[in-house]
Amino acid sequence: TPAAAAAALPPGATLGVMGGGQLGRMFVHAAQSLGYATAVLDADPASPAGLVAHRHVASAYLDEAGLAALAEASAAITTEFENVPAQALERLAARRPVAPAAAAVRVCQDRAAEKAHFRQAGVPCAPHALIASAEQLDAVPAGLLPGILKTAQLGYDGKGQVRVGDRAALAAAWDQLGRRPCVLEQRLALRAEISVVVARGADGAMVELPVQQNLHRDGILAVTQVPPPDVAPALQAEAVRSARALAGSLGYVGVLCVEFFVVDDGSADGALVANEMAPRPHNSGHHSLDACDVSQFELQVRTLAGLPLAAPRLHSPAVMLNLLGDLWFRGGDDAAVEPPWPAVLALPGVHLHLYGKAEARPGRKMGHLTVTAADAGTACAVAREAAARLG
Ligand code: ADP
Ligand code: MG
Repeated sequence: TPAAAAAALPPGATLGVMGGGQLGRMFVHAAQSLGYATAVLDADPASPAGLVAHRHVASAYLDEAGLAALAEASAAITTEFENVPAQALERLAARRPVAPAAAAVRVCQDRAAEKAHFRQAGVPCAPHALIASAEQLDAVPAGLLPGILKTAQLGYDGKGQVRVGDRAALAAAWDQLGRRPCVLEQRLALRAEISVVVARGADGAMVELPVQQNLHRDGILAVTQVPPPDVAPALQAEAVRSARALAGSLGYVGVLCVEFFVVDDGSADGALVANEMAPRPHNSGHHSLDACDVSQFELQVRTLAGLPLAAPRLHSPAVMLNLLGDLWFRGGDDAAVEPPWPAVLALPGVHLHLYGKAEARPGRKMGHLTVTAADAGTACAVAREAAARLG
C-alpha cells in the first residue's frame, strides 16, 4: 500500500535485532541482501548473528548501555529469540520502532497467556489447567491425565517439560520444575504436526508461507516436509485462517509462527488444535530459504522496514533436516568430528546451512539442510540418503 511504501526504510539504513542466534544470522543475511546494514545485540562475542552483522553490541538483554547502543545504531529493531525479555523491547520502543511489539511477544512467552489468546480468538487448543499453587495442583481434573506439564515461561526444544501419567507423577514433576507456574496439558494422540508462518505488516496486510508438516524427536524439531504429506487441504486452510486470526487479533507486526497438532476426533481428516506461537521466524520455516521465492527472513525484513509483503510461492517440494550437535559425536568419541559434508553436498538439490557455532554439543542446533526436488518423492529419497551419509 502507499502508506507502507511512504514509511519504507531506504537501503543503507540499519536494522537492529535482539538476539544473536541462527535466526538472527539468517535475518542479517536477508537484510544485507536488500541493502540494509545490521546491528545485533547478544552477550556472546561469537554469536552466529553477531559474527556476520555490521555491528555487534556484546551486552546482556537488559543492560542499559547495550540497549542504548543498539537503539542509537538502528532505525528499527526486531527480535530473533522468543525469550528476549519483553521489558527490553519496551525500553527500545521508547526510542525506536520495534516489531513485534513487547505486548505481543509477552503473550507468546507465557503458555497461559498464549492459551488465553487462542481461546479469545476462537482457536481450539489442548485441554489444560494452570498450576501455580498447591491448591491448583490438587484441583487438576482427572481428565487431563496422562498429560504434559510445561513451565509457563522459558521453555523451548522440549526443555521445561515433563510427561506425567498420574497425580503422584504430576506432583513430583511440579517439584522437579521448581514449583514454577506451569501449564498441564492433556497428552493428545497426534496424527501429525503442522505449522504456519504468517507475516503481518504495520498496515495489517498478511501473507504466509505454505503450510509445513513437522516431525519432532525428543521434543526437538527433526524434519519438516512441504507440502504436508499427511494433512488434508481443508485442515491446512483452517490452520492458515487460524494463524491469520491470531496475528490479527494481536495487532502483530512481524513474522509469527503458529504450531498446530492434528488429532483424532473420529472424522476422516482429524481436528486441528493450536499448540504454541513463536514471535519470530521459526525452524519449521527454514525451507523457505531454498524452496520459496520469498523466505521467512526476507518477510521479517520487509515487515520491519515497511516494505510491501509478497506472497511466498513454493517453487519446489522440500524436506528440511535439522543438524543437531549429536551428528558430531556419531563415532562415540569424546571429541567432536566434523560430519562428511562433501558426501552430502554431492547429492542433487541439497542446500546446506551451517550456523557458524564454534562448539558442537548434543541437542544443539548447528545447522540444517533442505533438499529441493522436482517432486516430493525425490526430495524424500534424497533426504533419506543425505541422512544415511551423515551417519
Ligand atoms: P517447545 O516450546 O519445546 O517447542 P511444545 O509445547 O511445542 O514445546 O512441545 C514440543 C513437542 O512435544 C510438540 O511439538 C509435540 O511433539 C509434543 N507435545 C507437546 N504438547 C503435547 C500434547 N499436549 N500432546 C502430545 N504431544 C505434545
Ligand atoms: Mg514447539
